[in-house]
Amino acid sequence: MKGRQRVAPIFLPHAGCPFRCVYCNQFLGTGGMGRLETDPVQYAAERLQEQAGWAQRAGETREIAFFGGTFTALPHDTIVRLLEMASYWVCRGVFAGIRFSTRPDAISEEVCDLLANFPVRTVELGVQSLSDPVLQQSRRGYGASVAAGAAQRVCRYGWKLGIQLMPGLPGDTHGRFLSSLEEAVDLKPDFLRLYPTLVLEGTALADWYLDGRYVPLTLEEAISWCAEAYEVLRLAGVALARAGLHGDVQRGGSRPVLAGPFHPAFGYLVRVRWWRNRVDTFLSLSSPNTRGKRLTLVVPAHRISEALGPGQSNPIHWRARWALREIRLRGVEKLGEHELEVRLE
Ligand code: SF4
Repeated sequence: MKGRQRVAPIFLPHAGCPFRCVYCNQFLGTGGMGRLETDPVQYAAERLQEQAGWAQRAGETREIAFFGGTFTALPHDTIVRLLEMASYWVCRGVFAGIRFSTRPDAISEEVCDLLANFPVRTVELGVQSLSDPVLQQSRRGYGASVAAGAAQRVCRYGWKLGIQLMPGLPGDTHGRFLSSLEEAVDLKPDFLRLYPTLVLEGTALADWYLDGRYVPLTLEEAISWCAEAYEVLRLAGVALARAGLHGDVQRGGSRPVLAGPFHPAFGYLVRVRWWRNRVDTFLSLSSPNTRGKRLTLVVPAHRISEALGPGQSNPIHWRARWALREIRLRGVEKLGEHELEVRLE
């Protein structure tokens, strides 16, 4: 599993976007950054200066991250000016490199040739799904083959690849999500982000939801799909950089999330479910009779709260499902990230 790179974010809401996607409203939950009313270059210059100051004071070398909007669909002279400003700090060792997020249909060979002149390290593609019906019904404006081609191009240019998927988009099903995930893994990303689709205020999806044309995933479905995905990614050695939208989305507006599987600790709940599934799978494969037995689990010390779950929900589940007499859960320092030792006696 590859390590997590910390970033110094510069948020450019909707900058460069060819149109507003049906589910997207980046003017909500911007952590106070709000609508981008100034010229993006001037705005980014000010943020870069601030981020450079923080990085120097903290003595930490992060990647400078342009996110929000569609970075590579900005006018070329804007891209060049933003990258020149960021490169200035990278060359001085203040930042480790540059990353940005963009749409898969906005990263042509020509743009890549332009980017190759700068210390770009990571490109995050808002792929969202690799199912054509889902992409069509969500009106993304490209098909799965375009998204796959963009991912391959990013790898060919030697940049780290991040892929964002949005389970629960219009037309999505459990099967389509899992196929998308497997195709995404085949593209050999360095990391993935999972953003279960939420119905945000001021979007087309909100209208579809209100007139009954769109039904979001329940929180339970989203947790269950993402926990399955976490296991697929673990087996493939791909890091899950994030699951669930940032809690900031609920700040600042009256009720920006109208519906959908929002939870401020969504990623934690996904990992709780993953530990639950893992132990269930072990018991179903290894023991024909668990009734009245004692189950001892040893997990990495820093993962113990995930293995327990909120209110000890996992031990309660295991005891009931497997008719166990007792459950002991211990955390030890020396175990690797996902290691689990199980004893049944
Ligand atoms: S999803 Fe991406 S491309 Fe679509 S409107 Fe939002 S930022 Fe722009």
